[in-house]
This record gives sequence, C-alpha cells and structure tokens, in this order.
Amino acid sequence: MAINHVRPWRNIYRRASRQISVGPVRIGGDAPISVQTMTNTITTDVAATLAQVQAAAEAGADIVRISTPDQASARALKEIVAESPVPIVADIHFHYRRAIEAAESGAACLRINPGNIGDAGRVREVIAAARDHGCSIRIGVNAGSLEKHLLEKYGEPCPDAMVESGLGHIRILQDHDFHEFKISVKASDVFMAAAAYQQLAEQTDAPIHLGITEAGGLTSGTVKSAIGLGNLLWMGIGDTLRVSLSADPVEEVKVGFEILKSLGLRHRGVNIISCPSCARQGFDVIATVEALEERLAHIHTPMSLSIIGCVVNGPGEALMTDVGFTGGGAGSGMVYLAGRQSHKMSNAQMIDHIVEQVERRAAEIEAADKAAE
Ligand code: SF4
Repeated sequence: MAINHVRPWRNIYRRASRQISVGPVRIGGDAPISVQTMTNTITTDVAATLAQVQAAAEAGADIVRISTPDQASARALKEIVAESPVPIVADIHFHYRRAIEAAESGAACLRINPGNIGDAGRVREVIAAARDHGCSIRIGVNAGSLEKHLLEKYGEPCPDAMVESGLGHIRILQDHDFHEFKISVKASDVFMAAAAYQQLAEQTDAPIHLGITEAGGLTSGTVKSAIGLGNLLWMGIGDTLRVSLSADPVEEVKVGFEILKSLGLRHRGVNIISCPSCARQGFDVIATVEALEERLAHIHTPMSLSIIGCVVNGPGEALMTDVGFTGGGAGSGMVYLAGRQSHKMSNAQMIDHIVEQVERRAAEIEAADKAAE
C-alpha cells in the first residue's frame, strides 16, 4: 500500500501475509482486499444462482461462494463455474465427497475444515483433489460450531478455542504440504470475533478472511460489520472479507466495498460526500443523493462527488472532490470541478447535469489510466 506522507493519519500498515490464489484472484500479500458474498438460491437452480452470481459480480464482488450440500449441487456447480464472471468457492460442511466433486466441477476454492471430514484417508483424498484441480482451501472456524473437545476444554466458545481450532486445521494442511489456504475465525459477537482475529493474525502468516457471522439485517448487520471488520482492517488485519447480512447478496457486496472505501483500502465507483441537510439547504439533498446513487451506479471508476446543501460546508467539501454541487439561493447552486468553482446550475437541471459531469470526469480518468499503462 502506498504510504501517505502528506496525510500520515490515513496510513494503514497491513499485516504481512502469504499470498494465495482463488482462481485468478490473488489473496494476501500486496493484493487488494477482495470482497466476497454468497448466493442464497437453491444451487441446483442454475439459472437463478447464476443470475445472483452475475448481479453480485456487477456490484463488485471479486469472489462468490455457493453452498454445495449434495451431489446434485456439486454437479450444478460445473455449469455455474463455466458461466461465472468470478471465481466460485464451494461451501462444504463435513462431507468429503462433496469437496472432491466440487473440485472436479471447477470450484476455485473449497471452504472446508479438514479436521471435520473424518479419517486420515478422507483428508488425504480431499487435499489431493484440491491440489489436482488447482483449488485453494478456506478453513472456516465458527464460534457456533466449535469441536466438542474444545468446548469441553474452554467451557464455552471463546477466542482461544477458536484460534486453537483454526491452528489445528492449519496443521493438518501443512502436514500434507498444502499451503494454498486462507482462514477465518468468525463469531456473531463483535468482541469475540475481533479478539480471535487478532490472536490468529499473530500466529499464522496465512491470508485472513474476515467476517462477522450472522450479523443481522441490512442496518444492524452493516453497523456490526463496520465496527468489527472496520477495526480489524484499521489494524491492518484482513486480506479478503464477506459481510454476512440477512439481505440480498448485492447489499453485502455494497457494504463490503463501503467499509473498504471508508478506510481508503479500496476504491470503486463514485464516493458521494453529502450533508445530512437542514433548514439551510438550497435544494432537496436527500432526494438528490438518492437519485444520484441510482443514476451513477454504473460508474466503476473511483472518483468523488460532493453534494452539499449550502455554503456552510459546500465550498470546503468541493475543494477535495472531483465534482461538487453546493446549494445556493433562488433555485440554483454552484458546480465545482476539480475543487474549483466552475458555474451556476439551476436545481431543476442539476441531477442530469451532475450525471453528465461525473460521466465526463470518469471517462477522463479512465483515458489517463490507459495512457499511463
Ligand atoms: S451543509 Fe448546509 S444544508 Fe447541509 S447540513 Fe450543513 S448547514 Fe445544513
């Protein structure tokens, strides 16, 4: 990550981790922190599952995970993988044959805990299948499904038990000379998850998959995830993440990106800076921002836009954004371009005009990036 000497308070020093691959997506090391989600369709309904994968990818998902509970699902995976624009992780619990079938179907990664799949022979077979088909593995420890012996040892789910579980699974993979793995230690409790991830980060150099599991609905889950994942990311911990919401997978992707954007760890699309509005607003800020979010969703180029109700904060915010609009009097406001006051625009035409300005600026940034390649 580039170190910001001018604004050192923005620097986040990422933990050094090994790099692995999930298909073409690199995880760990200096790779960008990737955003994942999971489908919630019936996997054998290939058309519905693919539609969800495509929508998630369009929203920015780098990787999508799909439950593979039975043989028919493992078979369906083959068709889904063939059409998917992003690598697919097969989510397996316990059943080693499903893992082998998913690897054969082209999954880029298997989410499976090697300590939970039975005897040494089965473990060997799964690892051999992963190796033969170029799959990585995600060890996924969850506070809600810890091994019995750890619950007996610790009395209840806790960070120590979660990390011990994770390190146990890691050892199994390492004993088989398999190192293409990442690991998560998720809990629905923010404190427990954060403590477990911090301990884990000190004890392995494997890339870390972050998540607050079963975080809740869109609003509560977003807040919980932003606090839990946000703090860990700020500490430099985390190489890939999934926000778990009882909501559409597209929302999970959007929230994941917003968390990364807030910390300057990744940039995608238009970052809208807008005021909450008050009696001073020169136009309807809330309705305008809602409309602009929708009209600008197709822009993937990272850039910033300030939409501010009045001159109290408008000119200051506009100084730091690519495009800005600040409400004024008599039904019009001021447009700012590249931080500079540019021209007046009527409130009535402002939304169309701002969309045009943002599209033009996005095209300029893209052309400059291309020229620099
Ligand atoms: S910028 Fe102006 S309109 Fe917006 S909240 Fe502040 S004072 Fe109110």
